[in-house]
Amino acid sequence: MPELPEVETVVRGLAYLVGRKLHSLEIFDSRVWFESPLDPKSLKGLQLLEVARRGKYILLRFEKNRTVIQHLRMTGKMLDSKSQLIPDPVRNAIGKGGKGFQIRSRFSFTGCDLFFYDPRRFGTLTLVSDEDRYFREKKIAPDPFHRPEEAFLCFQEGLRKCKKPIKTALLDQSIIAGVGNIYADEALFLRKIHPQILALEIRELKKLWQEIVALLERSITSGGSSIRNYVNASGEAGTYAQKHLVYGKTGEACSRCGTFISRILLGGRATHFCPSCQPRS
Ligand SMILES: [Zn+2]
Repeated sequence: MPELPEVETVVRGLAYLVGRKLHSLEIFDSRVWFESPLDPKSLKGLQLLEVARRGKYILLRFEKNRTVIQHLRMTGKMLDSKSQLIPDPVRNAIGKGGKGFQIRSRFSFTGCDLFFYDPRRFGTLTLVSDEDRYFREKKIAPDPFHRPEEAFLCFQEGLRKCKKPIKTALLDQSIIAGVGNIYADEALFLRKIHPQILALEIRELKKLWQEIVALLERSITSGGSSIRNYVNASGEAGTYAQKHLVYGKTGEACSRCGTFISRILLGGRATHFCPSCQPRS
């Protein structure tokens, strides 16, 4: 699943749409239109004012206080309707169920059409008039880049009372928005913290916070990590995966000490760490 840097890369790739009018938003797969209180037809003719992000969510902000909130989940991509990344059989079946449902919606802007292409169909679209309320109800923490002070307080408060392993806590979007499996493993390695230590036992939370923010920033600079079939809005893969230190490195030598990287399951998620650099106590 794309994490904050990958979603930020998509958001930057969609910035060219700002200022254009949306002529229609067609929903081909009703399952994508998730928990939405408003009708997609209410967007007709509205200008796109901003493409933004909160954690792993993409925000398409239109006139009249209308925001489309999108989550890409496992395989979602926003692609130009002519993109070669969309197989012909899928394109030919659009709107007809089966394979056609992989193209879940079409945004028709002045001068360009975008498909929400999502082979595994876990992605979501929601149209709201009150973003803050939506995220409050979903218990999504403030964004670490757009509201850094509030986000740090939320992180600190969340970890201090969390009795789960720190790795599991870092995946909790109500504690920190935007971090997923890759960046949680990488940040704990950089701070030399064993992933099974309980969150409430972690000291120097400010340093962990700063490490995570700096890590996310470095990844954004590289266009994010490209894992499996993730690509950004222009169809280009990010390169940060080449810089991963522990994620996906099971059995390889630690870049710091040479010990083999271990893999365990925590909260059902694969967790990668160096047993020497990240001791349990
Ligand atoms: Zn090591």
